[in-house]
Amino acid sequence: MSRARSYVVTTDANGKKHEANAYTCGHCNRIVVTDRTSPMSGCRMCTKLICPSCDQRGSCTPFERRMEIAEARARSRRSMGV
Ligand SMILES: [Zn+2]
Ligand SMILES: [Zn+2]
Repeated sequence: MSRARSYVVTTDANGKKHEANAYTCGHCNRIVVTDRTSPMSGCRMCTKLICPSCDQRGSCTPFERRMEIAEARARSRRSMGV
């Protein structure tokens, strides 16, 4: 998915422009800005780019999947009449 990657330009206190890559975390949908020195983290299970905190968690729970799980849970609860 190429649209997950974008490009941002930040300006520091001296008015100097810095170019940085930005991407959307495939797990929590957060925008992550990286400079050239810090490597991007990728999930080994879904191969999406993910943020450092999701990377640290070490499990693959994409945002969309979490919504599905919550929905399925609500559905089964309703069908049981609870
Ligand atoms: Zn994340
Ligand atoms: Zn993943």
